[in-house]
Amino acid sequence: MEYKRVEGKTYTLFGESSSTTEFYKLICLFVDELIEVNPDQKILLNDLKTASKDQWHFNRWRASFPALSAGLEQLDIYTRNTNKHLESLSILNLFDKRLRTKEWQYHLFMLEVELTNRMNKQVFLESEYKMALLPYCLHDLKKECKSSSDGIEYICRNCSAECYINIITKALKAYNVKGYLWMQSNLKTLFKSLAKDFKTIGILGIACIPELVNGMRSCAKHNVPAVGIPLDANRCIRWMGSFHENSMNLEQLNKLLTK
Ligand code: SF4
Repeated sequence: MEYKRVEGKTYTLFGESSSTTEFYKLICLFVDELIEVNPDQKILLNDLKTASKDQWHFNRWRASFPALSAGLEQLDIYTRNTNKHLESLSILNLFDKRLRTKEWQYHLFMLEVELTNRMNKQVFLESEYKMALLPYCLHDLKKECKSSSDGIEYICRNCSAECYINIITKALKAYNVKGYLWMQSNLKTLFKSLAKDFKTIGILGIACIPELVNGMRSCAKHNVPAVGIPLDANRCIRWMGSFHENSMNLEQLNKLLTK
């Protein structure tokens, strides 16, 4: 499938390039730097989460990483549409935490996903049952999606060779990860039901950045190791008013699932 640039409502991991590779390289470097300053990844993660709460906490966090903090401006090229989007938000939409995500919060979330992946990768790969929750917005928009529930969640029925969900689900099989479209399940109920059959569960999430961070944090609250890959841009109905073609970096997915 052609990997072409997509522009999101607030962000695009393509930045100014025709590929998302540079984004992943940059995030990797930033997280390397963070770990160099503070090798305790648990503390780093907690600090990142706290910093993303509000501007005051963010400023405090920035002051403790002066060198890195100046470099964070390099992430602006990925989030250029955020301020325009925030200015256009209706009062009603301001109540939606994801929709009102600030530009600097996107940057912290990007770091948080990378750090969480590093911390959880091994335990995820060693989980007895590995499940991926994929976003419906990645399905082939030219087709009427034939996915249906198997009692746990919706599974892809492979109706389109050009569908990201189909391609990802097939790729996941090779890593013994069961792919589902996340349509209706509540994480707490899902984990409770899976815990009856499996000693350990690991979750792989794919979603736009604010959704992904929210999902990964929820998994952590339930002591379920989660790893995740952000969508290349936020282009679903929630952000754009209708669905728009989207993508994700499959190379990163393979990297994440390889020991
Ligand atoms: S390939 Fe799967 S996810 Fe894609 S449109 Fe068909 S059934 Fe839906």
